Formats: sequence, C-alpha cells, structure tokens
Amino acid sequence: MKTLICSAPRQFEYAQIPEPEPIKNHAIIKIKRVGICGTDLHAYEGTQPFFSYPRILGHELSGEIVACDDTAFKIGDAVTIMPYFSCGSCIACRRGKPNCCAQINVFGVHIDGGMKEYISVPTQYLIHGEGLNYDELALVEPLAIGAHGVRRAGLQPEDFVLVIGAGPIGIGTMELAAVSGAKVIALDINETRLKFCKEQLGVHATINATDNNALEQIKALTNNDMPTTVIDATGNLKAINNGIHYLAHGGNYVLIGLQKEAFSFSHPEFHKRETTLMSSRNATKEDFKFVIANLKAGKINPKNYITHTVTFDEVKEHFESWLRPETGVIKAMVHL
Ligand SMILES: [Zn+2]
Ligand SMILES: [Zn+2]
Repeated sequence: MKTLICSAPRQFEYAQIPEPEPIKNHAIIKIKRVGICGTDLHAYEGTQPFFSYPRILGHELSGEIVACDDTAFKIGDAVTIMPYFSCGSCIACRRGKPNCCAQINVFGVHIDGGMKEYISVPTQYLIHGEGLNYDELALVEPLAIGAHGVRRAGLQPEDFVLVIGAGPIGIGTMELAAVSGAKVIALDINETRLKFCKEQLGVHATINATDNNALEQIKALTNNDMPTTVIDATGNLKAINNGIHYLAHGGNYVLIGLQKEAFSFSHPEFHKRETTLMSSRNATKEDFKFVIANLKAGKINPKNYITHTVTFDEVKEHFESWLRPETGVIKAMVHL
C-alpha cells in the first residue's frame, strides 16, 4: 500500500509499505480522510517541539473499519480515531487525564500516523461515527482540541471569553465557547480571518490586535471588566506574553497553542489578577463526544473549516503552499 513519509524537514517521499495484519484488540481502518493541521505544518517546517524524522504524518483521521475483533464495532462502520495513545498506568492516566499521559504517543506525531491507505490501531481509540460523514469525522479531533480548552476554562453562560488566534484551532474554540453560552471576542492580526469570524461564526465582536487601542476596545466591550477567560490559540510567543493584559481580575488564562520558547509576563500583572494559568493538551473521549453531538445537532458547520481538498497523490506538491497564509487555508483535507 501507499504511504507518504516526511523524511526530513521540508521533504516528503511516497513509498510502498506492507498492509497491516489483523492483531488482537486492534482494528484495521481504510483511511478516507486526513485533515492537515498546524502540527503537521510545523513538523514539515521543522519547528514542532515533539518531533523526529522520518515520520508518517496524519492524526486527524476518518475511515471505514475493514477488520475488527471488538463487538462494539462492525465491518463497514465509519469511525474517527482518538490519536492520543496513553500508557494507562502513569499518574495522569490513573487520575483520568490520559490526554497528558507521561508516556503519551500521539499517532502521527510521536509515532507514525495515518497518511497511508490502511492503519491498524487499538480499538480503544476508535470513536463511532454516529452517522456523520467522513469530512465531519476528520474534523472531530481538531475541534476536540478547542472543546478541551473550553472545558478547562470552566466557562459560565454570559462570560466574556477572548480567543486569540483565528486559525483552525482558534475558530473551533470560538464555536465551542459560543455553544457553551459564552460571549466570544475574536482577536487576530488578519482582517480577512476576523471578517470570517464575524460573518460566518457570528462571534460577539472581533478586534484587530494591531489596533493601537485594542485594549480599550476590549474594555469597552466588557463594561470595563475585561474577559474572564482568555484562550490563546496562536502558539505565538509575542501573543502569549501579551495575552495576560486582556484578562479580568480573577480570570483564567488557557494556553492551547504551543511554541518552542519560554514565555514570560510581569509577575505583578499575573499576581494582581490572581490569574489561573493553564495549558490545554490534546483532548479526551468526553471532548470527542461533545464535538460529535454538536456536529450532529448542526451547531458546528464543517464548511467553515475545509477550505482546500486534495487527493493523496497531490499532498506532496501542495503541502508547501499551505504554509502561506495568503492561500487562505484554514484546513486542507486529503481524500483517499
Ligand atoms: Zn491537529
Ligand atoms: Zn499514562
């Protein structure tokens, strides 16, 4: 069968590898869709902190079961995959947080992923498609990342939440925060993306971070209170260092985005707010289920995410272009 290997930064090679054999407690999935996300782009660029080469990318997956020994599933079922393979015995796993397992292997990041015709995965990581189509199912993972951040923040209805970064993770986070009843303010530096948030997502307000009076605009929008939750979905050092200034006293600052450097902010600014600072890593089964329920209910529109579609054979030639924001890419979806 065919696979695509990222052999070194900025290098892809198609190769032939053997098809997986059925093994106990595993299912073989015929891959139908692979979503491309920031993690894949950073891995390709050589800027993903948890990455080594060669590697087969692909962790936003949907497909059809072709072999399975678990009675919870049957041949032909459409599924998505929770790609966070956890050890089950470390302190995080024992406390119900397998998403930040100390020995985590993310399928397509730490270990070879789904950019191939068939994969074999432990059945415990399969999530039933519940009638969603393959495009929707491949969107569940990236949306679950946002759902997890939103759940970590413990939003209350009517809370103001500022989401920084209107990329694919950011807009998912905005939609899921809105579903949770919060009033979402979108902050980005790209006017086109902000316009999209206003028109397509119907967020409460949008603000351009490059405006000199961005802080005053946020103040005015929140009756001088400032947002009680700030969520970073940029993974940009400058944005992360700056985000604290937008946070209400007593608020939560949630970092979903990831970058390589040490972040820093003024201790007095952090202290006077009694800030709760938290990272949000991966997602749990609960987050996947929450996203699936909202997709089924029509509360999230898949069309907002998938801007580019390619066949498996076209991935290599198009990948480089998805690094450039001017292509307007939110999410590229690979069809197999
Ligand atoms: Zn992803
Ligand atoms: Zn573990």
